Amino acid sequence: MLFILLVNVTVLVKKNNIIFGPVLSRRFGKSLGIDLSPSKKQCNFDCLYCELKPAKTVDSYSDILSIEDIITALKAALIKHQDIDVITLTANGEPTLYPYLNELIDEIDKIKGDIKTLILSNGATIDKTEVQKALLKLDTVKLSLDCANMQCLKKLDRPSKNIDIENIKRGMLAFKEIYNGALIIEILFVKDINDDIQNILGLNEYLLRLQPSRIDIGSIDRPPAYDVKGLQYEELLMLSKKFDKSLPIYIVSRKNIPKSPQSYSDNEILATLNNRPLTGDDMEILFDDETMIRVKKLLSSAKLKKIEKEGIVFYTLT
Ligand code: SF4
Repeated sequence: MLFILLVNVTVLVKKNNIIFGPVLSRRFGKSLGIDLSPSKKQCNFDCLYCELKPAKTVDSYSDILSIEDIITALKAALIKHQDIDVITLTANGEPTLYPYLNELIDEIDKIKGDIKTLILSNGATIDKTEVQKALLKLDTVKLSLDCANMQCLKKLDRPSKNIDIENIKRGMLAFKEIYNGALIIEILFVKDINDDIQNILGLNEYLLRLQPSRIDIGSIDRPPAYDVKGLQYEELLMLSKKFDKSLPIYIVSRKNIPKSPQSYSDNEILATLNNRPLTGDDMEILFDDETMIRVKKLLSSAKLKKIEKEGIVFYTLT
């Protein structure tokens, strides 16, 4: 009896934790999250920087929510929050390991109205046909790619043994060919692990072939699972300059940003943007008020232009 009671309490806790948010995101708007693994970490990676505790990798979920429970929780949340911009599929672990993902997305589509859909995945299963089939139905797919080679992947993301970086890269290219939505790549840099020039050049070469809609680069913002160090904003800015300037790179991490914005002349602004396009967020950090007035003038004289990439505005030379 006590056992039955405990089991029921566990089920209740899981169901209560399926939906989280809304969370306000600059990039995606007001997001309602669905956690496909609320009871425990179920992941095919065990990243050094994970915000969750270290855990043995798995290739499939053992603790599986029913579609019915997820949809019931989502319906209730959508009644409560009527101004949601995006429903985000995520997990304490890897959401594409959820075995009914394809069917779940179909059910979400039936009730979501014009709300957009997004998944945050580590990208390790993108070479699987069934995963591609499910992700094709989403408006935005965000995949991680921290490493260009297997040695780095093993060191940083510590994948389960059947995962191979070349399959991931091939899978991303194949998916990009057939996908009409926004494909965003996220790279998380860890000091002295994947910030070396060899890895950056490897990523750069691959990303030029992939041509994702946007590339988000960041570092550790919360306490990591293992004893590793992150990069500061300025280090990420330096590192972003090593990528080809045609790649739309957005610096996500805002840790230890420079204290005072600087004054740039017209020529300095143009030279900086010739080096690499900057986002409005970068400019707020780097440029003082007078420089921002100069930027506006350069925009109105058509020496600069703005380009939008999935909700982020980039400033570049015309
Ligand atoms: S993929 Fe995400 S959940 Fe899995 S170990 Fe890495 S950071 Fe953690």
